[in-house]
Amino acid sequence: MVRESEIRPGEVAVDPPAAADAGLVFIGRIRTPWTSRLECPRQGRLDGPSCRIEVFEPWAAALDGIGGFERLEILYWLHLSRRDLVLQSPRNDGAARGTFSLRTPVRPNPIGTSIVRLVAVEGAALLVRGLDCLDDTPLLDVKPDRTLFAPLAPPQQRDFQVGDPT
Ligand code: SAM
Repeated sequence: MVRESEIRPGEVAVDPPAAADAGLVFIGRIRTPWTSRLECPRQGRLDGPSCRIEVFEPWAAALDGIGGFERLEILYWLHLSRRDLVLQSPRNDGAARGTFSLRTPVRPNPIGTSIVRLVAVEGAALLVRGLDCLDDTPLLDVKPDRTLFAPLAPPQQRDFQVGDPT
């Protein structure tokens, strides 16, 4: 069940150390149709709506070659999450489980990951399907899907062209 930041029966919060971002930089932002956690999917679907990943300067040049991959792994910062729960009750039924056994956005370092389908590259923006984050979620990283990535091998074969209609 979706939460704002309430504590549920059976959940346990701790007093965490002061948050520091360990030198992370937000390299872009993700534009999605969802402005509320109530409507945001819990996990993205490859046939979900098209979302736009906007990469900020000076990082746009780092997209060179990205169009050769059909699927990408996107890492993002779930910036509206609380970060102090060690036991959580996803169903809000009093039965709590450890944070690290869940894919909840509520975690000490709220990093989300999704495998997405690349639909198009538009300059410094990627159109993708498969995300599950709120509009304006900060972007941490973009990588080729590890199951498709072959270091030092020729570019992947694709069954569609970047620029195909979305
Ligand atoms: N696919 C990612 C993963 O498994 O690491 C994230 C999964 S998490 C269950 C997705 C949920 O996080 C969404 O349904 C929404 O409730 C919440 N969420 C999405 N964007 C968020 C944001 N920017 N800040 C806080 N919570 C967010």
